[in-house]
Amino acid sequence: MAMKDDEVVYKTLLESTKAIPWKINWETLEFEYIGPQIEALLGWTQESWATAQDWIDRIHEDEREQTANLCISQSKEGIDHEADYRALTADGNYVWVRDVVHVIRENGETKALVGFMFDISERKKMEQELQEANRKLEALSYRDGLTGIANRRLYDQTLEREWNRALRNGTPLSLVIVDIDHFKDYNDQCGHLQGDQCLIQVAGALGGVACRASDLFARYGGEEFALLLPDTGREAARDIAERCRRKVLDLAILHPASSAGNMVTISAGVACITPEEGGDISQLFEVADRMLYQAKRNGRNRIACSWPQAVPSSLA
Ligand code: GH3
Ligand code: MG
Ligand code: MG
Repeated sequence: MAMKDDEVVYKTLLESTKAIPWKINWETLEFEYIGPQIEALLGWTQESWATAQDWIDRIHEDEREQTANLCISQSKEGIDHEADYRALTADGNYVWVRDVVHVIRENGETKALVGFMFDISERKKMEQELQEANRKLEALSYRDGLTGIANRRLYDQTLEREWNRALRNGTPLSLVIVDIDHFKDYNDQCGHLQGDQCLIQVAGALGGVACRASDLFARYGGEEFALLLPDTGREAARDIAERCRRKVLDLAILHPASSAGNMVTISAGVACITPEEGGDISQLFEVADRMLYQAKRNGRNRIACSWPQAVPSSLA
């Protein structure tokens, strides 16, 4: 086959691939060739690709410097390389592309770059969808399936972080453990499904009680909830626990078998600790839990705090 015929064959082959071939002269930094497919992908005519600067100008500014620098440094060294970036289209949009670059050298000197540009927008879209799905999954793994509030996993992680922060800053950390009174009887009388509805309602009501961004309200397990209150002292923690108790009472959910009245009620234990070096993180829960059982023993539908309460002057 004559040389001319060969060229026709190669040109036809190159121009019928999905990948877009191109060649840049390294000395003049001018395009010697770019496949006509570029027009279908980006909308720019073949003729509009005159110099390497046209290529650089059409890279999204977020990737421009990094992509251009990579290409220049690798090309100088004679190293084949590839780069993913968003390419500007003639109508002002962007398409994710990958350039695979081969460096042509003569006597140790870079002479030209030849490469293929691939449309990778589908792959990028799938990657982004996967990332988004992973992000949602990650968020879900910190939520309780029934109530939608934070779960035990998030509580444990947050407790550790806040304990360390409180230790560093010398600030108090408070914890309120809330437990629904006679919930077993409620389930037995009203059925498990209604029990679930009750949990959802209680969680909804208690979710709005503490409102600082650093506060965390979580389902600790079963019919127990934890309210972690960073940088919160005793009085504020006690007030918040008391507000929790009232909120649930205000829901006025009928309880057919409660010793604490005919409504669903909660009891709560409150602990407040300013962590010290060498202190045990489990202390906070242990104290709050002990107080919770004291509240239960004292008759339920009440709160108990781990510090002595002032006796009202009328009783003193
Ligand atoms: P106390 O006042 O002493 O707290 O009594 P209690 O009946 O609330 O406590 P107990 O620990 O005996 O019972 C807790 C009940 O909570 C038993 C369990 O079936 C119920 N429970 C735990 N998780 C769920 C849930 O997700 N849905 C429903 N419906 N019930 C649950
Ligand atoms: Mg319980
Ligand atoms: Mg209970």
